Amino acid sequence: MASHETAGTTYRYRVSRNGQIESVSDNWDSFALGNDGERCVSDAVLGTSLWLHLSGELVRDMYRQLVDKVLRTGDPIEIPLHCDSPDRVRHLTLTLQRLSEDEVEFTSKVEKVVERDTLSLLLGDLSRDPNSWVTMCSYCKEIQVSADEWQPAEQAVKTLQLFERDVIPHLTHGVCPHCYDDVMSELDDEIDQEKEDGET
Ligand SMILES: [Zn+2]
Repeated sequence: MASHETAGTTYRYRVSRNGQIESVSDNWDSFALGNDGERCVSDAVLGTSLWLHLSGELVRDMYRQLVDKVLRTGDPIEIPLHCDSPDRVRHLTLTLQRLSEDEVEFTSKVEKVVERDTLSLLLGDLSRDPNSWVTMCSYCKEIQVSADEWQPAEQAVKTLQLFERDVIPHLTHGVCPHCYDDVMSELDDEIDQEKEDGET
C-alpha cells in the first residue's frame, strides 16, 4: 500500500487519442489503493475513458488539450501536481509522452511524500452537509476559501473552521487560477508558435 511508497517511484499508464486507458504499470494497483481505493484498481480502469476519472469539466478539457498537444507535436509535457490522500501529501511530476500517432504515455513520478495529521475533509466515507461545498484544485490540492483566495488544505480547514463543524462540506474539484495559468501557458506557447509559423 501507500506506506511502501517512496520518492522516485513511478506509475505509468497509456491512453489512446480518445482517452481510453489501454494499459497500466504493474504497480498501478498499489497506487490506486493508496488513493481513491478499489474503484480505481486496474481491472476497474482498463478500457475505460480517462476523462471519466477526472473531476470537473475544466480539468477534463485541460487533459484533452494536453493529450492533443503531445500527439500533435511529439514534445513531452511535464506538469508538477499533487496527489494527496487524507494523511499524506504527495508531490508528483506527471509527464505526458507520445508513444505513437495515437497513444500517449502518462508517467507519474513521486517526488516527495509528506505525512500529515489526517484531514477529515478528505476522507471518503463521512456524512456531508448537502448544502455546503468546498472546491479543491485538482493540481495543487489547494482549497478555495473565498472568491479569490486558495490555501493549502491544512490551512484551509482552519480558515473555513471545518474542525468546528458537526458535518463537513462536500468536496468538489476545480482548478485554481495559478494552476490554470500554468497549464494553459503550456498550450499557449504552442498556439503562439503556430501563429508565427503561419505568418512567415
Ligand atoms: Zn492549483
